[in-house]
Amino acid sequence: MTSSPLVKELMVCNPIVIDPESTVRKAIEMMETHGVGSVIVVEKFTRKPLNIITHKDVISAIYHSMLDSPISELIELLEKKELITIREEDTVIDAIRIFEEKGIEHLPVINAEGVLVGIITGTDILKGLPRFALIDPLTGLENRRVLDYLSQKLKRQRVRDLYVLFIDVDNFKRINDTYGHVFGDQVLRRLAQEILASVRAYDNVIRFGGEEIVVILHRVNYSQAMDIAQRIRKRVKSITFEEHPEVRITVSVGVAPYTGDLLETIKRADEAMYKAKKVGRDTVVSVK
Ligand code: GH3
Ligand code: MG
Ligand code: MG
Repeated sequence: MTSSPLVKELMVCNPIVIDPESTVRKAIEMMETHGVGSVIVVEKFTRKPLNIITHKDVISAIYHSMLDSPISELIELLEKKELITIREEDTVIDAIRIFEEKGIEHLPVINAEGVLVGIITGTDILKGLPRFALIDPLTGLENRRVLDYLSQKLKRQRVRDLYVLFIDVDNFKRINDTYGHVFGDQVLRRLAQEILASVRAYDNVIRFGGEEIVVILHRVNYSQAMDIAQRIRKRVKSITFEEHPEVRITVSVGVAPYTGDLLETIKRADEAMYKAKKVGRDTVVSVK
C-alpha cells in the first residue's frame, strides 16, 4: 500500500478561535486580521471545538443583521450541524474524502484527547502536497500514490464499468543492457507518451513500477477495454527511435474487470499480463 501524508503534517497549527459569546463582528475582525477564511468556535475554558464560522456564515449574518449578536445565536439561526472534525493522525486522503462527502472546505483537527490542535483546508493540502508528490518525475505519468485516492473514490462511488490494463515492456532488461540506461529511460518516456495518446483524458495512466504501467479505463465495457489494449500494443510496436532505428519494443498486456477493489483488480490484471508473457509476449490476455 502506498502512503498518504498525515493531517498533522499539512495542517495549520494554532487555528484562530473564538468563544460562542463573542459577536459576529469580532469573528469578521479576526478573519480580516489573520487573513483566514474561518474561525473555530471553542468552549471558553476547555478549547473543545464546538463549531466553525466561515465567510459564507458571516455573509448570512450580515444579511440577517446579526453583526452584533453573539456567535451562538448565529449558529442557532443557521441550524449549523454538529462540528465535523478530523484527527491529527488521520491521512490527508481521509480529509479529502470528508471534504467531498460533506461538501465542506475547512476541517478542525483534534488530537487523541479531543483538543483542537489545528485546521486543514483544501488550500493547505495543495500547498503542502507538491504536484510532484503524485507525478512520476521520469515519465510525467501519475505515480502509485494516486492509487490510494482512486481506490477509495471508486469504492465510494460504487463504480462498475471500469477495466484495468497492466502493461509490462517485453525484455526491457535487454534494451538497458544493449543501449544503456539513459536510452532505456528515453524509451520509457516515449512509451508513456504513446499510452497517454491512446486513452481518453479522464483515464488514469500510472507508472506502477520500473517498466510497468497500469491504465485505469473508466466507463468502458469488455470489448472497448480489449480494443484499447490492442491499440496500445500495436502502437507501441510501431514506435521508432532516431538514435537507434533498429530498436523495436513490444508490451504484454493483462486486462481485468473491476472487482470492487482497485488493488485486487490490479493484481488480477498483473496475473493476466504474466500469462501473456508465458504465451510469447506482445500479447493481450484478459481475465473474467
Ligand atoms: P519480461 O519480458 O519478462 O518483462 O522481461 P524484462 O527484461 O522486461 O523483465 P524484468 O522485470 O526482469 O526487467 C525489467 C527491467 O526494467 C529491469 C530494470 O533494469 C529495468 N528498469 C526498471 N526501471 C527502470 C528505469 O527507470 N529506467 C531504466 N532505464 N530501466 C528500468
Ligand atoms: Mg516488469
Ligand atoms: Mg518487462
